[in-house]
Amino acid sequence: MLVGVLALQGAFREHQRALDKCGAETRQVRKPGELSGLDALVIPGGESTTMGKLMREFGLLEPIKGIAAEGMPIFGTCAGLIMLAKQIRNSQQTNLGLMDMEVERNAFGRQVDSFEADLSIAELGSQPIRAIFIRAPYITRVDNGVDVLATYGDKIVCARQGRFLVAAFHPELTEDVRLHRYFMENVAG
Ligand code: GLN
Repeated sequence: MLVGVLALQGAFREHQRALDKCGAETRQVRKPGELSGLDALVIPGGESTTMGKLMREFGLLEPIKGIAAEGMPIFGTCAGLIMLAKQIRNSQQTNLGLMDMEVERNAFGRQVDSFEADLSIAELGSQPIRAIFIRAPYITRVDNGVDVLATYGDKIVCARQGRFLVAAFHPELTEDVRLHRYFMENVAG
């Protein structure tokens, strides 16, 4: 399986490492041509306003929407989650707008820049997953067709809609690769 990792900014190398551990081949994506032949795409964390601008400048916005419409599996983490949401609270920033949900950026509050928590995700088995949140968003509303995979308190932090998977945290920053494997085997497989 060849998985592209959007490499405009952010934690793309860490995603490549996790995917590599799961047995995938990876390719950094910066140009539209690098989307061809992919079996799946990962959109990493970073800064979503910057990422949206760069996607437009690099001519990637419409091509990614195009392959998504043709069924490309996409996994977005943190800023990547923001890129996939159809609605972003209080923001008109450029994004892909693929999943039927609303998100709020930096939603855990400014004083809580980052934190870690154990989340249970039934799809990954009974062992909880250690989640690292960094200036994280969360999902404020999901519409029909979006399945909630994990919550932190009452906040939705992991969800799936068909071939799209999103996490508000950074699964690429821990050694636990179960969410990447779930993406490869269940979402894209
Ligand atoms: N706060 C960032 C944003 O709004 C996301 C943070 C991250 O990806 N770690 O884009």
